[in-house]
Amino acid sequence: MRKIDIIEALKSYLELEKESGTYEYALGRMFKMDLKEKPGESQTLDELKKEVSRCRSCDLCKTRKNVVFGSGNPHAKLMFIGEAPGKDEDIQGLPFVGRAGQLLTKIIEAMGMKRDDVYIANILKCRPPENRAPLPAEILACSGNVRRQVAMIRPKVICTLGKFASQTLLKTETPITALRGKFLEYPAFNLTSGGIPPERDRRRDNGIKVMPTFHPAYLLRNPQDKKLVWEDMKKIKKEISK
Ligand code: SF4
Repeated sequence: MRKIDIIEALKSYLELEKESGTYEYALGRMFKMDLKEKPGESQTLDELKKEVSRCRSCDLCKTRKNVVFGSGNPHAKLMFIGEAPGKDEDIQGLPFVGRAGQLLTKIIEAMGMKRDDVYIANILKCRPPENRAPLPAEILACSGNVRRQVAMIRPKVICTLGKFASQTLLKTETPITALRGKFLEYPAFNLTSGGIPPERDRRRDNGIKVMPTFHPAYLLRNPQDKKLVWEDMKKIKKEISK
């Protein structure tokens, strides 16, 4: 295909996306970046928490009761990252405190740790109404926050819980059934903002491994797959104890 044809095709595509209201999302996906993600001024997790607690970058700020920033050990070797707060989390302002959260707590304890030993967060910091799936605009507006949390905590391993968190952090459309159970490299482009020196930003091998696994809410509906998650947890335990 000639270059001019490619440019024309690209222009038409972007016009269509602009009309449908998904322009920025399309650009973000095409260039594998978050256009609204910008380096924040916060240099510590506490500063970032204050910054995010005031956030009004998407419409979820209108319906939330609380911003659910994340909780746990700011120096954790292991981070769990899920999709978005649910009803209980929205009320309490804490991540994973409902039924799925109780199962996550049991999983952490079965690994020989406490919740305070790890750090738990979600991609979205505010609850989508009726627990609906996050919208592309919300992901675009919010995913920079969790990346900044990762950049500040610098865990050894991130365990992404479920399809949504796994696909968002790894910027892939591979199904969770194919992603889970294997360590993947945390993409270097995720470490481009917030709280870490620039020379560390540029390191390609950032030393952070990602283990995608099933979401605890899925396990509540499909308990037969708990054994698969346990296999993933054993791999994580071995990795963080090295
Ligand atoms: S979901 Fe994220 S981007 Fe949207 S208002 Fe809440 S903190 Fe801000």
